[in-house]
Amino acid sequence: MAKKDYYDVLGVKKGATAADLKSAYRKLAIKYHPDKNPGDKAAEEKFKEINEAYEVLKDDQKRAAYDQYGHNAFQGGAGFGGGGGFQGNASFEDIFETVFGKDFDLGRGSRSRRGGPAVHPGEDLRFDETITLEEAFSGVKKTIKVHRHASCSACEGTGSVDKKQETCGTCHGSGRIHMQQGFFMMERTCPTCQGLGQVIKNPCPKCQGQGRRPEVQSLEVALPAGVEDGTQMRVRGQGHVGPLGGPAGDLFVFIHIKPHDLFERHGQDIFCRAPISMMTATLGGSIELPTIGGDRVDLKIPAGTQPNTRFRLKGKGMPVVHRHTVGDMYVEIAVEIPKHLTTEQKELLETFEKGSNKKHNPDSFNFLEKVKRFFKD
Ligand SMILES: [Zn+2]
Ligand SMILES: [Zn+2]
Repeated sequence: MAKKDYYDVLGVKKGATAADLKSAYRKLAIKYHPDKNPGDKAAEEKFKEINEAYEVLKDDQKRAAYDQYGHNAFQGGAGFGGGGGFQGNASFEDIFETVFGKDFDLGRGSRSRRGGPAVHPGEDLRFDETITLEEAFSGVKKTIKVHRHASCSACEGTGSVDKKQETCGTCHGSGRIHMQQGFFMMERTCPTCQGLGQVIKNPCPKCQGQGRRPEVQSLEVALPAGVEDGTQMRVRGQGHVGPLGGPAGDLFVFIHIKPHDLFERHGQDIFCRAPISMMTATLGGSIELPTIGGDRVDLKIPAGTQPNTRFRLKGKGMPVVHRHTVGDMYVEIAVEIPKHLTTEQKELLETFEKGSNKKHNPDSFNFLEKVKRFFKD
């Protein structure tokens, strides 16, 4: 029987893109997978055919050879790369992920040991802690309460009343079983012992044979001065303890910093927007401001200070973690224009305005002249 065209096998056009090929291949591979069609010889043949076609078409060089010479490209050592010998297994992991999802362990997991029972380490844990900007400035020790699985004291983590475990009869302690499916040898986690390799005859009633129990643990974490929002701290071995004596995972503490009423942090610098009255901006004066470190500073406002003027207070910002440097504080001036004036106040300002000229308001006068020129031209 003549070999079928590879493009026909995958049901795609000759100019199909790599993405089209992959998607067509996946759909067919899932449909004809021997696991879904146990004992179906036709499906198995079809599955091999699909794999062979994809193996060629996904490879640019092989595809080019196939496009030019057809199946001859791969026969009898002529043409391309010695020909034949498609194993059809290069993409098995792809299919497995699609067909079996995450339940199917191809033995890539670092946590299973070949020839021995799987060790089940505990899961990592996340804890979110929110602190104030002042605490971030000075550094702070926090006691956190973590809900975690800890080793069961009644059975010493064995999960068994008599603190004994027996080798699982299904997998003989390896934690994995092998099955022949079609032309594959498949390996999967033993369902009897969930890969632990051990079974418990008399489960501990305190932990239902898990070897671990939930508890609330208090932990002190020291946050360094200058700690930043979004910092993650890893506390080794303080995550969940694994089942049946498996090693504990890690605890990750995520640090959040509350927004501050007065200050905004940009890295090591602190920004503060300070509204002042029109009079202070015009005649000059001073304003009293706190710093994040708790100092009071008197900021001199020179006469004629314009809105958005920035003043820098050197060394009044945030410390940098584990370094002896400190950022600066920037004060940005906002000038508040008075509202809801009395008749008397309005009259005073009108008198003031009559005596004003270019010298007092150079920017607005210049702008006005430019506008006039624009209309004349
Ligand atoms: Zn127990
Ligand atoms: Zn087993």
